[in-house]
Amino acid sequence: MLDWKKIRADFPILNRKVNGKPLVYFDNAATSQTPQQVIDVIVDYYSNYNANIHRGVHSLSQEATDKYEAARHTIQHHFNAKHAYEIILTSGTTESINLVAHGFASLLEKDDEVIVSALEHHSNIVPWQMLCEKTGALLKVIPMNQNGELEMDSYSKLLSNKTKLVFVNHISNALGTINPIEKIIEQAHNVGAAVLIDGAQSCPHVKPDVQALNVDFYVASAHKMCGPTGVGMLYGKEEWLNKLPPYQGGGEMIDQVSFTKTTYAGLPHKFEAGTPNICGGIAFGAALNYMNAIGFNNIAAYEKELLDYGTKRLLEIEGLKIYGTSINKTSVISFNLKGIHPYDVGTLLDKMGIAVRTGHHCAQPIMDYYKIPGTIRASFAFYNTKAEIDTLIEGVKKAKMMLS
Ligand SMILES: *Cc1c(COP(=O)(O)O)cnc(C)c1O
Repeated sequence: MLDWKKIRADFPILNRKVNGKPLVYFDNAATSQTPQQVIDVIVDYYSNYNANIHRGVHSLSQEATDKYEAARHTIQHHFNAKHAYEIILTSGTTESINLVAHGFASLLEKDDEVIVSALEHHSNIVPWQMLCEKTGALLKVIPMNQNGELEMDSYSKLLSNKTKLVFVNHISNALGTINPIEKIIEQAHNVGAAVLIDGAQSCPHVKPDVQALNVDFYVASAHKMCGPTGVGMLYGKEEWLNKLPPYQGGGEMIDQVSFTKTTYAGLPHKFEAGTPNICGGIAFGAALNYMNAIGFNNIAAYEKELLDYGTKRLLEIEGLKIYGTSINKTSVISFNLKGIHPYDVGTLLDKMGIAVRTGHHCAQPIMDYYKIPGTIRASFAFYNTKAEIDTLIEGVKKAKMMLS
């Protein structure tokens, strides 16, 4: 058995008060909190070996380069990529998706088709719409049902030899639904389409194996899994990364530059123009080490307990409706109180020290589907407790009384 009290003590922010009340942090799906072990790595970097990487002959530069490349290997092993150079370090999920969408502009032709799902974050919609505008490709949408699950029969029917690319999230940030990505990938490959999985919301909860999934691209952000903001990753199969053109031009990504012809560096540097977030990359590796030491099986089992308990307790409140009721979901609960605007509830909860997200959660199509302006979203991490859920329940009850 793991000592969850001890784990909580790793997160200094959990000791602070907000509006005079102990902080209850239930906005983990927007960003996770950072353990002391990762904060120490950040402080150590700027205190002891801050230097630019890959080009210095001096010792600090060498040390920073070694630690940055070691982090790339940590990320490679975490996701079980075949090669370290298949891991591209980016500024986050959004940039990773834009990088791939940019690359596909030279691979798609008019009337080619690409498929998205109704359950996506705007980050996994808008870059592809821009790609379709540029290329004349058509965007098709896998519909969802009332439980917040994808309609897989419709997906099968959308696929054809015109389909070139499918992009779906592993887990929905707005509802918590775990999508059947194994089936999605296999069926796409049967018609020769590539697949990008947006793992921003899954990586805090599960440990994906990109080789077992046989996925072409997998993307994630460090800040949702105990790492810092401004850093993330793109896994791409070697053959796909070789097919895509560079994303940005600049330093680091070249082999030879002259005014008549420039040749590009090999992987991964071809996609890493300019000075990267060096400290962030190193801290990303530290965050993965931290989570792996706790163990993703332990994390998943504990978060399931929190999800079941939170769901049961919230449903005791009359007039409360939960959106996203798939049996395959992670510890995200999106809900509304009948006749009350989610924003008003969120504002009152904040006064009680409880941080939840309210609004459309960057997923307006889902809100349109349910014909609601937004939801209140409580998302739990492994450092949350049932006692905190009790505080949320009391808070929601109080807010309901005050607003009705
Ligand atoms: C958070 C999130 C994103 C965007 O991630 P950034 O870190 O803001 O780039 C994309 N997709 C999903 C599912 C997310 O949860």
